[in-house]
Amino acid sequence: MTPTPETFRNIEPKKCTDCGTSIVEMHESYLNQCDKCLSLIDHN
Ligand SMILES: [Zn+2]
Repeated sequence: MTPTPETFRNIEPKKCTDCGTSIVEMHESYLNQCDKCLSLIDHN
């Protein structure tokens, strides 16, 4: 059984592109940054 890219993407934990912290997908899944970095960006 070969895992498809789609399947792998579903089980692979997302990481913040800024600090590398694992992101818990509890809202918008298109976000690539953690709440902390998002807040920093929002304030910048
Ligand atoms: Zn971050």
